Amino acid sequence: MLGGGAAGATAAKLLAEWGHSVRLITRPAADSRLAVSLPPSCRKLFETIGVNEVVDEAGFVRASGNTVWWGESEPRVELFADSERGWQVGISRLDELLLSAAATAGATIECRVVTEADLVLAQGRFLIDATGRSGLVARARGVRVYNEAPRTVALVASWTRPGGWPVPDDTHTLIESYESGWAWSVPTAPGTRHIAVMVDPQRSGLVRKAPAREVYLAEIAKTVAFRSLVTTADCSEGPWGWDASGYRASQYAGDNWLVAGDAGSFIDPLSSAGVKKALASGWLAAIAVDTSLADASMRVPALAFFSQREHEMERRYARLSQSFLAEAAPTHPHAFWRDRSDLPDAPTAADVIAVREAYERLRSSPALRLTLGDARLEPRPGIRGRKIVLEPMIIHGDESIRYVAGIDVVALRDLGPRFVQVPELFEAYCRLQGAVALPDFLLALATSVARRWFVSQ
Ligand SMILES: Cc1cc2nc3c(=O)[nH]c(=O)nc-3n(C[C@H](O)[C@H](O)[C@H](O)COP(=O)(O)OP(=O)(O)OC[C@H]3O[C@@H](n4cnc5c(N)ncnc54)[C@H](O)[C@@H]3O)c2cc1C
Repeated sequence: MLGGGAAGATAAKLLAEWGHSVRLITRPAADSRLAVSLPPSCRKLFETIGVNEVVDEAGFVRASGNTVWWGESEPRVELFADSERGWQVGISRLDELLLSAAATAGATIECRVVTEADLVLAQGRFLIDATGRSGLVARARGVRVYNEAPRTVALVASWTRPGGWPVPDDTHTLIESYESGWAWSVPTAPGTRHIAVMVDPQRSGLVRKAPAREVYLAEIAKTVAFRSLVTTADCSEGPWGWDASGYRASQYAGDNWLVAGDAGSFIDPLSSAGVKKALASGWLAAIAVDTSLADASMRVPALAFFSQREHEMERRYARLSQSFLAEAAPTHPHAFWRDRSDLPDAPTAADVIAVREAYERLRSSPALRLTLGDARLEPRPGIRGRKIVLEPMIIHGDESIRYVAGIDVVALRDLGPRFVQVPELFEAYCRLQGAVALPDFLLALATSVARRWFVSQ
């Protein structure tokens, strides 16, 4: 295993816990000063990885949401659903906790820079590249693909304001779009915040060797809300710079290698999902390796599944970030926004309309009369517990689908024709598969009808 960030430490912990011999090489903690926001949905991953308690005990600031000035001058306060809380974490502290959990589980951790010799020595064993942007294996294998959009650099400084910050909620991540970039702030301790500006290095003058502090302060001066916040604060440290340009991989796994987390792809920090993606990627890499080692016949499908899932995850977050950027772009007629908000066509629009119509039909019709449609079932890889197994899936175009909104549509397909009323079908599904939310169930049913896996008469 190369790299001991969220992805590498997660994979190392799980594989060691599952009885594998794990050696992880990572640079000594670089004292990364990056502070990042994690959404409440990371809870499930912390539970799955078995680090819930250590994360809770670490004393990170718990955020109740975001305050944003996004394409408009009035703040929008966005609270997390169901009063849940996210985390504001120093990335080096989080990595330290995860690495220590990996060591406790039995992984051998070596703190040093990876060398060419390490790559040679790893031949014949599984090699997980989790070296983040360095992407040692990703580059060596020639699978890294840089995004077409111009580069983005984050300049981040630490600010203190004794007595706290005049914002609706000081646990919040603050985000403001402005003329030629966007600014973002994460609380790190009472009275202290990291404030970042995301800029185009070419257009902001950074590449022409303008002093980073000058560029940073000039960018802050272009904001409205952030500028007003810092007038009464001290810039105590920084700015530090991070490359935040996006990239992906043309392939995320090969015969005995996998690229996980940021080593595989880097998504726009605007999504606040980089760590969540890295945790999920480390978890899935561990499952793919465990499956391949337990059953040689599953090696090819398991690695192909990992690669496909990583690709889908990158695409999903890329679309999400682009839609955020497109939301603010009309307010800021600057090339920074134009270059980054070009949305691809929405090929699923017709599908979405068909699902909505089927949903309305199902809600208004007194009886279901479902017969099996033209869905083709084929065995495809899916996750069961900690293994990748071949299981029947519905083949729809080039997608293979087992779940829609968390509902097992293959199980639903078996049950559908046996019931006349939606409540009865819902009850039978919950009895067999466990309780699910009715709106999710209706969405899966409507999707099944819209895509003609069922025919409704
Ligand atoms: C400006 C900015 C803001 C961000 N904001 C957020 C946010 O708000 N929320 C969020 O979830 N994510 C955010 N992210 C993204 C998030 O930080 C990353 O996605 C996440 O940390 C990736 O984890 P990883 O384990 O894949 O890689 P990394 O954390 O990069 O870990 C890679 C590891 O490999 C080691 N390594 C690299 N090269 C070598 C080598 N040659 N030899 C030995 N070891 C090596 C490194 O030291 C490190 O330990 C942000 C990123 C940036 C740049």
